[in-house]
Amino acid sequence: NRRVILASRPHGAPTTANFRLDTQPVPSPGEGEMLLRTVYLSLDPYMRGRMSDAPSYVEPFAVEDVLGGGTVAIVEQSRHPDYQQGDWVVSQSGWQDYALSDGSGLFKLQGTALKHPSWALSLLGMTGFTAYMGLLDIGNPQPGETLVVAAATGAVGSVVGQIAKLKGCRAIGIAGGEEKCRYAIEKLGFDHCVDHRRDDLAQQLKQHCPDGIDIYFESVGGKVFNAVLPLMNSKGRIPLCGLIADYNSADLPQGQDHLPLFQSAILRKRLRVQGFIINQDYGDRFAEFFQQMSQWVAEDRLVFREHIVDELENAPEAFIGMLEGKNFGKLVIRVAAD
Ligand code: NDP
Repeated sequence: NRRVILASRPHGAPTTANFRLDTQPVPSPGEGEMLLRTVYLSLDPYMRGRMSDAPSYVEPFAVEDVLGGGTVAIVEQSRHPDYQQGDWVVSQSGWQDYALSDGSGLFKLQGTALKHPSWALSLLGMTGFTAYMGLLDIGNPQPGETLVVAAATGAVGSVVGQIAKLKGCRAIGIAGGEEKCRYAIEKLGFDHCVDHRRDDLAQQLKQHCPDGIDIYFESVGGKVFNAVLPLMNSKGRIPLCGLIADYNSADLPQGQDHLPLFQSAILRKRLRVQGFIINQDYGDRFAEFFQQMSQWVAEDRLVFREHIVDELENAPEAFIGMLEGKNFGKLVIRVAAD
């Protein structure tokens, strides 16, 4: 059983020295348990937070323990009455080949979900759920409004933009590099996409949002937020989903303190800013999401791109790269053939 262990906590950007690969015997299931073989491992930005021991909404990963994470797995051996060998499940097996489970927290993949099992980690799972709830419940998009979303080609952002279009909004993406921006417009159907690496980000955004911004789906923070804030319309909504630009920061940002500016904009423009943590806030609404998203998928209304990397030993480098924007689409490790 190959496992990726958190060898030490990163300070700033993680390096490969923070991870270690080890091999242990494959465990045997006891009565009421099953052995799961990981096929796909989801790599997600929140994992960077859990590698630190700063106080947060979940426990940090333990040093010298296997890293946690969502997986799609096959039941290899079962001593559990509700599961049979060969069943596909969504589990939290973490960064390893095999894990034991007593069935708690498992979700069995059935029917059309088996056509594309890895999507249970993204479009039809955690990241799609995040896009759907954050946009529809907090963003409350109305036809004709302008939505801006950053990390626009990523797992969450690409779905936010497409749902906004289905709801009749203008969707403007922000992404890293020309290739991603072209993809957002040509394949995802965004009305425009601005490259955040350009020096004239703020001017570009202003030019493409002539009527201001009604919804900013925030996943990034930093200079992207600084460019967006002056363009927010009165009564604008900001679902605060993530702040990936700061996940590797070890210190508070240098320079001017923008907090008073932000507070003043919230007041003057009567903005609604709401943070959310998907499973904690919306765990009871997964079925509603799953039904609607499955229907859109069945009707071919959504385009979705995965960035698949083979082999567990490549997971640390792929994860480090994601925090630098090297992934193009939802980052998934194919741990084994199915
Ligand atoms: P993505 O697939 O979008 O991958 C991360 C992307 O972030 C990179 O590809 C890069 O895209 C962008 N990025 C990284 N650093 C920067 C930076 N400094 N400035 C601008 N963009 C940057 O990841 P996800 O879709 O899985 O996650 C997106 C966000 O949603 C994250 O902040 C994550 O923490 C959050 N999230 C929150 C949840 C919640 O419950 N609140 C649940 C799930 C996700 P590019 O090259 O285009 O810049």
